[in-house]
Amino acid sequence: MLVTSCRLAFSLLRRLPSLRGVGVYGVGVCNLGTVAGGKYQQAHVSVTASADPSTTHPGQDEVKKSAALQLNFGNHKTAFKHKTTRELLRGLVVLHSCAVDTLVNHSHKLLSLGERLLGERLLGYMVAPFYNQFVAGDSGQELGVVSQRLASVGVRLMVAPMLETDVGEGHDARVSTAYQSLSMAERVEAVRVVAALLVEVGSDGHTTTSSHLLHPLQLKESDALELIDSLPRLYKLGAQCVLQDVVLAVDAEYTYTNPAINLLSLAMMKVFNNPTPIIWNTYQGYLKAGRENLEHDLGVVRALGGNVGFGAKLVRGAYLERERSLAQEKGYPDPVNNTYEDTAAVYTSMVEVMLQEVAAEAESRAVVVATHNEASVKHAAGRLEQLRLDPQAGNVVFGQVYGMAENISVPLAASGFLVFKSVPSGSMSEVMPYLSRRANENRAVLRGARRERQLLTRELLSRLPFSR
Ligand SMILES: Cc1cc2nc3c(=O)[nH]c(=O)nc-3n(C[C@H](O)[C@H](O)[C@H](O)COP(=O)(O)OP(=O)(O)OC[C@H]3O[C@@H](n4cnc5c(N)ncnc54)[C@H](O)[C@@H]3O)c2cc1C
Repeated sequence: MLVTSCRLAFSLLRRLPSLRGVGVYGVGVCNLGTVAGGKYQQAHVSVTASADPSTTHPGQDEVKKSAALQLNFGNHKTAFKHKTTRELLRGLVVLHSCAVDTLVNHSHKLLSLGERLLGERLLGYMVAPFYNQFVAGDSGQELGVVSQRLASVGVRLMVAPMLETDVGEGHDARVSTAYQSLSMAERVEAVRVVAALLVEVGSDGHTTTSSHLLHPLQLKESDALELIDSLPRLYKLGAQCVLQDVVLAVDAEYTYTNPAINLLSLAMMKVFNNPTPIIWNTYQGYLKAGRENLEHDLGVVRALGGNVGFGAKLVRGAYLERERSLAQEKGYPDPVNNTYEDTAAVYTSMVEVMLQEVAAEAESRAVVVATHNEASVKHAAGRLEQLRLDPQAGNVVFGQVYGMAENISVPLAASGFLVFKSVPSGSMSEVMPYLSRRANENRAVLRGARRERQLLTRELLSRLPFSR
């Protein structure tokens, strides 16, 4: 299995064929997946959890055998063994720069100003260290190189194609509001209708389907037509993913667009997760309603019947500042948890929900614990063992962003857990806004990267000739 992480907003979907093309996602990504680890592709097909204690995992001698308890995220030798000294130096400079508040706060403005004053090419040279630290490049070949290097330390590729545009509060927001205003039973019906339309337009390729079929959503005609217009591309995307055994992890966005994304993701799950979860949706723990959102969608999937598979990417959430400021501006209650600790509690509870789901229904449930938080990773790894789940089955995996948290990804993979790096791919100009936004949104993590910087320094010092 290979994972690709992707935004699903309608307006962006319209751009998909011109940006990368569904074919490239499916075929290109899958070829790279073979590079990344053919074994894992097999593993995903035969998703199994071991409920039988006599199989591979912790038995009577739990403490001694537990890989989770022995995880060590402080070992620079293990973490950076696949990095050249030059890469370590670059990593140190980049992670230090990301910790400078003024630079991060004004990164977007600085980049636009730089582009105007220096031109794209010259700016490109200046920001090359950032690009090379966090981005795999712009071609299948470059992705292949990154994939192979990650594979050398047992880490796999989660391709994140660049579609980084704020879609604003237009059509997506109106569909979100419509879907959100429905009761649970009506939402199930709406998902069923969208799934049926997806199959209909997917099989005959045209969108002449009458918009009145979307009546459970009570959309304006133009919104219904726009939604229907996006379905052939969605179908193609899902069908390619099934064909190539590529997981499509749909990104979560702002609270004003997430319900529409959920509707489409759930409809895709109904069509393509039969029952192996190929389409996964993302759930954000920084939301007060984070766990509720997850449980709600699990409820919808159960109500759909027919053993529909459900996959979840669990994140803390990347849009904290914007969510808070929007709530303040518009005078509605802040949807984000009051404190970091509250977010941690919601996140832990969501991980627990999904691990229990996987334990109960191994073939139709899957989760990626997408975090750079050491405690969260250790906790999830420990629970995975306690629930006697198979860490190699492919239904519980871990995810971190490329260029960060090597000290977590590498030892985690070495201890037998499945680890994916989310690797953005795109040209310098496509990717820079992403980098600047991520720097802002992930400020907490980037500060948390202090430990990684210390480890990088130690590894660099240990490579000096006199230290041998
Ligand atoms: C593979 C992968 C895929 C991702 N996909 C998505 C996605 O689709 N959508 C998305 O939104 N994000 C996504 N993210 C980003 C993610 O949501 C987090 O922003 C990022 O991972 C930081 O969280 P953490 O658990 O790694 O680190 P931590 O340092 O433990 O947590 C930092 C996070 O805690 C929360 N937080 C910080 N301060 C406060 C506070 N005062 N009150 C409440 N909460 C607070 C914020 O969410 C912040 O990002 C993804 C991350 C990864 C690794």
